[in-house]
Amino acid sequence: MSKWNMIVDVARCENCHNCFLAVKDEHIGNDFPGYAAPQPLHGHSWIDIKRVERGQAPIVDAHAMPVMCNHCDNAPCIRASSGGAMYQRPDGIVMIDPDKAKGQRQLVGSCPYGAIYWNDELDLPQKWIFDAHLLDSGWTRTRAEQVCGTGALRSLKVEDAEMQQIAAREKLEVLLPKAGTKPRVYYRNLHLMEKAFVSGTVVTSRTGVEECVAGAQVALAKNGASVGQATTDAFGEFRIDGLDPGSGEYELTVSDGGAAVARRTVSLGQSQYAGVFEL
Ligand code: SF4
Ligand code: SF4
Repeated sequence: MSKWNMIVDVARCENCHNCFLAVKDEHIGNDFPGYAAPQPLHGHSWIDIKRVERGQAPIVDAHAMPVMCNHCDNAPCIRASSGGAMYQRPDGIVMIDPDKAKGQRQLVGSCPYGAIYWNDELDLPQKWIFDAHLLDSGWTRTRAEQVCGTGALRSLKVEDAEMQQIAAREKLEVLLPKAGTKPRVYYRNLHLMEKAFVSGTVVTSRTGVEECVAGAQVALAKNGASVGQATTDAFGEFRIDGLDPGSGEYELTVSDGGAAVARRTVSLGQSQYAGVFEL
């Protein structure tokens, strides 16, 4: 049987908040019996936009991504619920029953992603329901996907085996994989949020004037083993991404194919500018 999944491309998210607002527009003041009670006016982010800034001047970047209920196949929230208040539908969507879940505040803390919010007025835990009410009435995509102008969101209903092939082929990742929750929301380019990079600038003064070196080769090694390579751009800048924050010392080697070589050791905490290398 085919089931719903969502793919988020971090590289395409521009922090516009359209998806966040679409969920608010859909649920604030609107009751969908059997699916979701109205969302309160303030305090809930059923789709939340996380932001991160990386690097140091002059090489920095900023990224954003939506975080929401992952519709986990091994959901701790379902185990924490009682009386059938939370359940997973055959199409993969995890639901909170708006009647049976009343008073079950423990559900808020049961989600390792912080995706469940407490509605004080209704005495009810709530979260993003993958627009199950719309999909059941014939919609083919979630509202969040429809309002995303950059194509950062893609909801797809496929068999689990096919989704696993897509995830492997497109190098998709899930949030908190060690939690073992088996999310149905996948991320592409997640390293832009969770990993670190080393950057630098390569120059030369051979002609008597300091100029950028384009096309220089940069190698990054850890304990003598290669962990990354880059080539400098027209501004003499390079960036090697996908490193674990706080992963310690690395050796950078810069060369231009000739005899000139510059080396430097960097100790990686967060993303770091390793400085100017002169060849
Ligand atoms: S609508 Fe798309 S681009 Fe805008 S915040 Fe959401 S995912 Fe990012
Ligand atoms: S993300 Fe949280 S609320 Fe959603 S299914 Fe997983 S554990 Fe439950």
